[in-house]
Amino acid sequence: MPKVAFIGLGNMGGGMAANLAKAGHEVRAFDLSDDALTRATSKGCTRASDAAEAVRDADAVVTMLPAGKHVAEVYRSSVFGNAPQTAILMDCSTIDVGTARTVEEEAQAKGYAMVDAPVSGGIAAADAGTLTFMVGGSEDGFAKARPFLDKMGKAVIHAGGPGAGQAAKIVNNMLLGVTMAGTCEAFVLAQKLGLDPQVFFDISSKASGQSWSMTSYCPVPGVGPETPADRNYDGGFAAALMLKDLKLAMEAARGVDAYTPMGGEAEELYQRFVERGGASKDFSALIKMIDDSWTPPA
Ligand code: NAD
Repeated sequence: MPKVAFIGLGNMGGGMAANLAKAGHEVRAFDLSDDALTRATSKGCTRASDAAEAVRDADAVVTMLPAGKHVAEVYRSSVFGNAPQTAILMDCSTIDVGTARTVEEEAQAKGYAMVDAPVSGGIAAADAGTLTFMVGGSEDGFAKARPFLDKMGKAVIHAGGPGAGQAAKIVNNMLLGVTMAGTCEAFVLAQKLGLDPQVFFDISSKASGQSWSMTSYCPVPGVGPETPADRNYDGGFAAALMLKDLKLAMEAARGVDAYTPMGGEAEELYQRFVERGGASKDFSALIKMIDDSWTPPA
């Protein structure tokens, strides 16, 4: 069974590494946090003393780190030159497209196959092995990465060349931020115009205003399928992470001179929401800020 090095065992990486170990891989794990490492070893991973030791003799390397600077630093200082050149390198973190492309070019120049493979799905999906991976890289890199990603997810999609996985992820999440903000303001306006939220949901979820934010992730408690709104907006997808993805999308848009006014507006709204203390709340809790006088239906 191929050996896997796993670096970054936080909220997401912990569950992902555990699923690789459960599938029978020897998983050599490293994280700067001792607590995270201890949790990973209790779930079948082997503790490495540093990232360079983790990747030595590995057939595959997976990283799940906070941002582009951590990814660039880990690959440059520990992975390149220490991992065998036959190892497939997979960065599953959500990072900026520019850094993803640069690091993949550096990997290629050093003779490695590398893909960016960010995920859709939160901590529960990482634990359950039901993530969706959006993969950027060569056909050969994708073919090598797929058997490992399959063990951590329910869908693995090749998005295109280097950086395409990150591009797909942040553009999708920009659209999600925009549709959620629009859905929140629509419910607030509907209620102010005297419409019952349930009635508005019944109409709009079957009419042209529907979107995933409306039909599957309704921001109004007690309306539609069960969502974080029904749990006081706890769990789900944290507003701080939505803001991170919107910032990445806006940075990418500036880089290619794309006009994204709605994405910019969503970024501003989530920035304000986070500054007001909403960082750890589910991103659908934005409805609370859109109208402070809004009250959930009885
Ligand atoms: P996290 O902060 O819980 O975990 C990151 C881990 O990386 C931490 O344990 C940290 O100690 C470790 N780390 C940082 N620098 C390191 C280094 N140089 N060497 C080794 N370890 C290092 O974050 P998370 O929630 O697991 O998210 C990880 C990535 O996944 C992020 O890019 C995030 O945007 C993305 N993501 C998160 C979610 C989510 O719901 N949490 C969903 C989709 C994507």
